[in-house]
Amino acid sequence: MKKISKDVYLIEINNLGESKRIIGVIRHKPSKCILIDSGLDDKDAKKIINKLRMNNLEPEIIINTHFHTDHIGGNSYIQKIAKSEIFAAKFEEALISCPAIEGYLFYSGAKPPKETINKNILVKSSNISKKLEINKNYQFGNKNIKIISLAGHTPQHIGIEVNNVLFCGDGILATTDILKHNIPLYCDLAKIKETLKKLKSIKNKIFVLSHYGATKNIAKHLNENEKSLNELRTEILIILNSPNSTEEIITKIFEKKKVHIKNLQDYLIKRLTILAFLSYLYDTKKITYNIIRSNIYWSK
Ligand SMILES: [Zn+2]
Repeated sequence: MKKISKDVYLIEINNLGESKRIIGVIRHKPSKCILIDSGLDDKDAKKIINKLRMNNLEPEIIINTHFHTDHIGGNSYIQKIAKSEIFAAKFEEALISCPAIEGYLFYSGAKPPKETINKNILVKSSNISKKLEINKNYQFGNKNIKIISLAGHTPQHIGIEVNNVLFCGDGILATTDILKHNIPLYCDLAKIKETLKKLKSIKNKIFVLSHYGATKNIAKHLNENEKSLNELRTEILIILNSPNSTEEIITKIFEKKKVHIKNLQDYLIKRLTILAFLSYLYDTKKITYNIIRSNIYWSK
């Protein structure tokens, strides 16, 4: 465990070929701790439990930053082994309690093809004990913890503030993640704009980004996120100089951004930010649509 502040540590899970996962550990009682997220699966959970026990710690609480499987996948195992309580924001709680919904979400509410339901989507459900409220302070043991909104990556993504540390989850994606995926994964453009603005105003903190680590220099990540979203917005608006269907827009952006789709699940996930942009641009009256041959064609 790497210490980053008084009673605050990080556990890093770094498997070859996988995205690095950072788990937060807050010692709030002499031999008990709060985990921030729980990794991808039982394997991650076992590693986390082992590291904690080597340091005489038991996880009393898990706080999930959001519902994505690589953040909640260890919940069920840790809850079974250590009887941990699990806390999350209300919207995210629904998906953590019933992870099967996520597959349906990606497939417009219809039953998704079986191929897409693998461990990257479906995890064992876990029981949430408390729904966390945004902008509220909670006293756990000797630690005062503030929950703030870092929404945009998911609808109710939270940040967790303790001492001089802010656990950001995927509330802001690291420059390395953006460069790797070419399109950052955000589901709500209005909310992510607010989140980036909020993070810009927070000074003198150690920021923990879930697939990167701890940094005092959040500015470079904020800039890369803004640049990437501005570029995407401009490219979509250029395409919409003439009417295009949703599928045509997705194809053109993927080509422009050199996004290579590996399989159906990969396609369903990577198109998400483009769909979010179409929704945001339509709601803010930057684009409109026409129905042509019973299909939707977007244009400026
Ligand atoms: Zn995520």
